[in-house]
Amino acid sequence: MKALAIDLGGTHATCAVLDDRTILAEEVVSTDGTQGLKPVLPLFAQTFRKLLQETGVATNDCAGLAFSFCGLADTRIGRVVSTNQKYDDAVGIDFTGWSKKEFGIPLRIENDARMALLGECYAGAARGFDDVVMTTLGTGIGGAAMIGGMLVRGKHAQAGCLGGHLPVLFNGRTCTCGNIGCPEAEAAGWSLPLVARDWPGYVDSALGKDEPVNFEKLFRHAEQGDLVATALRDRCLSIWAASATGLIHAYDPEIVVYGGGVMKSADIIIPFVQAYVEKHAWTPWGKVKVKAAELGNNAGLLGAIPLLLEPR
Ligand SMILES: [Zn+2]
Repeated sequence: MKALAIDLGGTHATCAVLDDRTILAEEVVSTDGTQGLKPVLPLFAQTFRKLLQETGVATNDCAGLAFSFCGLADTRIGRVVSTNQKYDDAVGIDFTGWSKKEFGIPLRIENDARMALLGECYAGAARGFDDVVMTTLGTGIGGAAMIGGMLVRGKHAQAGCLGGHLPVLFNGRTCTCGNIGCPEAEAAGWSLPLVARDWPGYVDSALGKDEPVNFEKLFRHAEQGDLVATALRDRCLSIWAASATGLIHAYDPEIVVYGGGVMKSADIIIPFVQAYVEKHAWTPWGKVKVKAAELGNNAGLLGAIPLLLEPR
């Protein structure tokens, strides 16, 4: 089965032509500095036409176009529901109408963490599992959940997506979402520098002298023995593990899959979270598997076929 797919991130989008689990061709389109999403839609259309020509695939051979969006989207109505300071015009865009006009094929739009979960189930770390929680650790913390082979969506298309905003500290930091003590406000790419600056001894530490702080530097300085980096890293690990325990209690998965840029340190993160949930999660049936995602940046694209095949 062939399909078109777009994976839209904060500064760029990847357009691809797929044949089942194979990416036949892909191209990255920069969206950096653009005012909203509307001006780049023609660029996406142009890129797809080029990719279709390169691969010799005809649009009417494609089952549809799957759009992975970095915000809340409701696939049932083909709309973006809410954005977070990026592509704010997306809420008003008729994506299905655009796809029909440009390519004459149906379009389905979905949140990027849900797309990554679908991709990992279809071709990656969660193959063979029907009950899955996905967490993406990056600038923010994305989430998605699947129960009995179906994505959890809920009344307003929010269910499962707010895993990064299920609080772990009632007296913690205020999050961009309005809540207090979210994992995203305590241990995500955007909040890490804020947490670090408030940490005792930070300014004089090796980490503090290596600004701007990011997870790559945090794990590196911790490994090299910087005490502030070690304490901050261990705090992040505990936040993520506490969050995983909450997600396991909420969604009853067999497997928790971690994706995102921070997973370059999967060899430290995965065993920590696995040991923590084995000790603290209430799973009398057995042990939840904790695994690193396998598809990297391709997960969202490879979620296209299962999304398009999903019964309406
Ligand atoms: Zn939050």
